[in-house]
Amino acid sequence: MRRAVIALGANLGDRGSTLREAAAAILAVPGVRPVAASHEVESVAMTLSGPDETKPRYRNGVVVVDTDLEPDALLAALHDIEDAHGRVRVERWGDRTLDLDIVAVDDVVLDAADLTLPHPRAAERAFVLAPWLDADPDAVLPGAGPVAALLAAVGDDTVRVEEPRLFASRPSELPGAPQ
Ligand code: ATP
Ligand code: CA
Ligand code: CA
Repeated sequence: MRRAVIALGANLGDRGSTLREAAAAILAVPGVRPVAASHEVESVAMTLSGPDETKPRYRNGVVVVDTDLEPDALLAALHDIEDAHGRVRVERWGDRTLDLDIVAVDDVVLDAADLTLPHPRAAERAFVLAPWLDADPDAVLPGAGPVAALLAAVGDDTVRVEEPRLFASRPSELPGAPQ
């Protein structure tokens, strides 16, 4: 059993519905169980040449799950969910209907051809750190430190969206939380 943190993002289509459907689809993968989920946040599109106000804004969220799947099998399942939502791979960091990244799986450190863990750019992305902290106030990015400190360092430029969490969960129900 491993604990996995998954970042969800979309900047095309009905972004909120897509994120909520994707969160439900993740929970429907055999061997995946819910732990905690964030609210949704919005932020400006990041492109290879920097933030771009002319691009559709991003909606992002984070879900924390427990899973029996190996990380590569989890990634394959996430790619299937991206494909089901019409993800087309054109340019790096281009507009997309759905992006599902594995932020971390326990303390696993991996540098394989198609999977790097923890996600190498998570520590500098407020749109990952802010919803992760929302889902789990005690979150720690392996090798980098507490998510609260990382978010303070980069600055939180995300805006909370007034919608329910991606799935019902309370951080206080996380194992290890104060009773
Ligand atoms: P970024 O990785 O900077 O967020 P991106 O999400 O836009 O960029 P994609 O085009 O979605 O990049 O993914 C490119 C490849 O990255 C995927 O096919 C996958 O094999 C690989 N990859 C490596 N590590 C991870 C990870 N931790 N989570 C998801 N994909 C990963
Ligand atoms: Ca990504
Ligand atoms: Ca991705």
